[in-house]
Amino acid sequence: MKKLLLPGLLLALCAALAQQHGPDLKSILDPTCKPCQDFDNYVNQKWKDANPIPPAYARWATFTKLAQDNREHLRTILDAVVVDYKAGKLARNSNDEKLAVLYTSCLDTEAIEKRGLDPVKTELERIAGIDSRPALQAEILRLHEKDLGAGAFLGVTQDAKNSSEYIASLSARGSLSLPDREFYFRPDEKSQKTREEFQKYVAKIFKLTGDSEEQASAAGKTVLDFETRLAQVQLNRVQRRDPYATYHRMDLAGVEKEAPGFDWGGLFDSVKIPRTTAVNLSEPKYFATFTQELDSAPLETWKAYLKWRLLSSKASQLPKTFEDAWFDFNQRVLSGVKEPLPRWERCTEAADRSLGDALGQAFVRRYFPPEAKKRMDELVANMRTTLGEELAKADWLSRETKKQALAKLDKITPKIGYPSKWKNYSPIEMAPRRYLENVQAAGEWRRQEQIAKLGKPVDRTEWGMTPPTVNAYYSAQMNEIVFPAGILQPPFFDPSADDAVNYGAIGVVIGHEIGHGFDDQGAKYDAEGNLRNWWTDDDKKEFEKRTGCIVDQFNSFDVQPGLRHNGRLFTGEAVGDLSGITLAYRAYHRSLHGQPGPVIDGLTADQRFFIAYARVWANNARPEDDRLRLQTDPHPLPKYRIVETLKNVPEFARAFDCQEGDPMVRPAGQRCRLW
Ligand SMILES: [Zn+2]
Repeated sequence: MKKLLLPGLLLALCAALAQQHGPDLKSILDPTCKPCQDFDNYVNQKWKDANPIPPAYARWATFTKLAQDNREHLRTILDAVVVDYKAGKLARNSNDEKLAVLYTSCLDTEAIEKRGLDPVKTELERIAGIDSRPALQAEILRLHEKDLGAGAFLGVTQDAKNSSEYIASLSARGSLSLPDREFYFRPDEKSQKTREEFQKYVAKIFKLTGDSEEQASAAGKTVLDFETRLAQVQLNRVQRRDPYATYHRMDLAGVEKEAPGFDWGGLFDSVKIPRTTAVNLSEPKYFATFTQELDSAPLETWKAYLKWRLLSSKASQLPKTFEDAWFDFNQRVLSGVKEPLPRWERCTEAADRSLGDALGQAFVRRYFPPEAKKRMDELVANMRTTLGEELAKADWLSRETKKQALAKLDKITPKIGYPSKWKNYSPIEMAPRRYLENVQAAGEWRRQEQIAKLGKPVDRTEWGMTPPTVNAYYSAQMNEIVFPAGILQPPFFDPSADDAVNYGAIGVVIGHEIGHGFDDQGAKYDAEGNLRNWWTDDDKKEFEKRTGCIVDQFNSFDVQPGLRHNGRLFTGEAVGDLSGITLAYRAYHRSLHGQPGPVIDGLTADQRFFIAYARVWANNARPEDDRLRLQTDPHPLPKYRIVETLKNVPEFARAFDCQEGDPMVRPAGQRCRLW
């Protein structure tokens, strides 16, 4: 015991020192790298060398490391709750009791193995018994009731053109297994190999249910071919970024006309959405094909597809052989991960996904001090004022557009740390040793919670991320920026650090999220969150020229041989980054009232600002994962978020005395600028 005490004390001492001096940025820099050559290497090379990717990760980055730290915190909370549960100390039906039951049922691999396929037996038998087209439709409705989209998914959304109204939304969610439509069609060798691996994955799962080798391998081909037909008529990720392309409000009769031959009314009934509810049919062309396939594809094809949808979506709650098969394709083949996360980590994630507000309350109580919220309020207010000033000054914006932009900025709601109103989980039933059913119950409850909103005023207190999440978002329809407590920790946000460091890190994140309100997508929504053009034609043209400048820069180089950032998919994120760094830099100087910032450890305030920015994106990734992200992730790869963004920022070149001709300096005429 004594031996353990010493490191504990040492840690406490280090923390106390850090309180006085903030982070030691000087020591992280690699003196063998030059800031003007490659700023990512200069700031992050030492970190990269000291932080190899753990086998259970596709990448290891500041983000993933902090997320893992947060899971350790969640484990501490959950372990304590389980002790109380076992001692009989928890109130019946309390949040803590639900957490304890869910978490222990997830850890109870013995029960999961023993039950085998029992939890999905009824559904498997029903699917196997489909012997007619009406029986097929009935089973699709039943799976839908169980929160499983089998080709069509009916949920709830805000009307894009009237953000104060909830309507139903019919989407293709859950219809495909591969990460994106394009994965079904790319002709290159790697993509072909991925499709072969996918077929093997399907076959493996089918074999585990007792199918013969031959049957299972035939099922692999059937599922891939069928999903390919469904993918053919879907929009890709870039096309889906255009909110006008996915907006088709209509009534139930309209859906029946666009996609005849399916019991759409039955689908509404299955989740108790009144048939009179208006609905957005996101992709009419897809749904027309979906209903044709209901009529024309062999019943055996549909049965294989439904069985696949069921088992692949539940694989992580079934015995290890299923989970391993899931891991092997989704993590190893697609991202290069070597081994799964330890069970407890997957179980804390499951608890966060299913009962996020219950776990989040305990998390913020322990790990998010009220002072942090106060400091964030100040940062957000200063960032907002700064963008207001920049908008007012922007000489390329007409008076009319400026007025609308300022109104929009004024209406942005910041949410910091955790929701003001917690979700009420009391209707969810959790049962010991029933992991799959527990996850299912939470999913069905979430769905019903959404559906209960129909006809009511829009709930502006709701959060789209749980408090422990290491991320942030902007919602165009809510016109809000949201920062969960999970990201408001070092190195993103450090109450002990000086302002230059906090503006460079969390300040840029705040600026990035505000920037989304004015990126290629966000700019299409007005102050009230309605899809409506508020730009004059000339301003819009100039805006598109400015965002296009950033896209062209990213499109001009290979990341891996023959592989570049995906077209216009990342426009919004790259625009967010450039807006973020520009605004945060100006907001920092605004906070100094014209005085120079302090020099600390031989680093100027501006230098610390840019180092803090780059440090946030420290990252080691497996090549498979980079490749996957380039095809599916709207964010540029971390290295380029640093390097390509800073090349456009003259203040960066000045801070490190970089000269024209240095790799980190883009010639004045070629720089992109938004504000
Ligand atoms: Zn973003």
